[in-house]
Amino acid sequence: MINVLFSARAAQWPVYRTPLESAFDRKGLDVNLIDHTDAPETIDYLVYAPARDDDDLSVYTNLKLIQSLWAGPDRLLKNKTLTQPMARMVDPGMTQGMVDYVFGHIMRHHLEVDRFANAKPGEWLMDWAPPLPADRTVAILGIGALGMACARVAHDYGFKVIGWSRTQKEGTPFACYAGEDGLKNTLAKADIIVTLLPNTPATEGLINADTIAQMKDGAAIINPGRGQLIDDDALLAALDKGKISGATLDVFHTEPLPEQHPYWHHPNVLVTPHVASETRAVTAADVVAENIARVEQGQEALYLIDPALKY
Ligand code: NAP
Repeated sequence: MINVLFSARAAQWPVYRTPLESAFDRKGLDVNLIDHTDAPETIDYLVYAPARDDDDLSVYTNLKLIQSLWAGPDRLLKNKTLTQPMARMVDPGMTQGMVDYVFGHIMRHHLEVDRFANAKPGEWLMDWAPPLPADRTVAILGIGALGMACARVAHDYGFKVIGWSRTQKEGTPFACYAGEDGLKNTLAKADIIVTLLPNTPATEGLINADTIAQMKDGAAIINPGRGQLIDDDALLAALDKGKISGATLDVFHTEPLPEQHPYWHHPNVLVTPHVASETRAVTAADVVAENIARVEQGQEALYLIDPALKY
């Protein structure tokens, strides 16, 4: 019998319980799935989306894996009691949701919808038609589980796509770059820049005055990655000057974004409240079951977070 503890907000237990039980059955796993315990030393796996940041994880002395329900590992890695291996969530349902969000907002910037949304009554802006997708370059910073899916959809639709990541990607149907020079190259060409990077010491403040200066005049930014990727003062200054034509921002240094924050009040910024995508119980349950099965068979879990790289 495998003991699996589901540790998340109370409201999530009824959402996840049946999908997890069904997924364990499909995998032939003999699981005792519980949502609380007085014997943490008996727990083999933690399915985890903590309601609080200061859980004492040291009480789970025999844990084989923490399977996070979140894609972003940054909050979890702040827990000083974390010593066990942890896998981030890569969920087809979440990926589909992120593709929807990113592609929808790429199209919004591509069609320059705000040009018309902000027009005065009677302002008949008929002397402008959007360029075709082949005339627009979309850069995706972060070609991981989510960025790769978004890049493929944008490419298949007909945009010129450039991917950028820490390690060089090969075999993609679009150009990919890595490293500092690669970033310069990417930013210089892009009309629409999507940031789907994790929040790590290496990515913090990546979009700053220097990197914005490397961008094309009038580029647009879509950030569903993490607020920490952006130096807000630098982005606001660039928006004020028109260097950046618009931004769709889903994630922020402080969430909820305070009412007085200039992003709320900027005509060229669309704020969405960290809703780009979320883990879907039914599809994520299969990922949890697959990872538990792998570890039970002595294989390495999928999507392990590297404590050194912080993602
Ligand atoms: P992932 O699979 O780990 O991919 C991360 C990508 O970022 C990889 O391509 C990685 O490069 C690249 N990267 C990491 N550090 C880098 C660096 N220093 N320089 C250049 N590239 C770097 O993560 P994911 O599942 O795609 O998720 C990405 C992020 O999206 C999450 O961490 C989370 O912050 C965010 N997210 C937001 C929402 C929302 O609702 N707003 C929902 C889900 C996720 P390599 O490929 O070389 O490793």
